Amino acid sequence: MDNCIFCKIVRGEIPAEKIYEDDHTVAFLDINPASKRHTLVIPKKHYINMFDIPADELAYVMFAVKQVIAMYEHEYGMKHVNIQNNNGTLAGQDVFHLHIHVVPKWE
Ligand code: 5GP
Ligand code: ZN
Repeated sequence: MDNCIFCKIVRGEIPAEKIYEDDHTVAFLDINPASKRHTLVIPKKHYINMFDIPADELAYVMFAVKQVIAMYEHEYGMKHVNIQNNNGTLAGQDVFHLHIHVVPKWE
């Protein structure tokens, strides 16, 4: 997707602070964080949202979410976190490339 901002991040065409990457996914810090280390986990392939992504591809994304949580637990002692995902405009989706918000809650 030529004009998708998250596809551009996957391709390295715009900067992002990537904190995890594997064959299927990438995770990077949110540009407008709700908390310290607010992270977005996305599939490398362009899927609009939960309605669009096949279940097997979604499994890769959730695997990556778990890696990010484990990393923050080990590196920063994170013990509280919100996992959020918005699908469609009425649900608050602003970027139409599927993403899972990982929002740590700190003491
Ligand atoms: P949504 O509202 O679609 O669930 O969440 C989109 C998220 O993407 C927002 O939290 C917003 O701050 C983040 N975002 C939008 N554009 C960029 C960008 O260019 N870089 C990064 N790192 N995050 C972005
Ligand atoms: Zn995209």
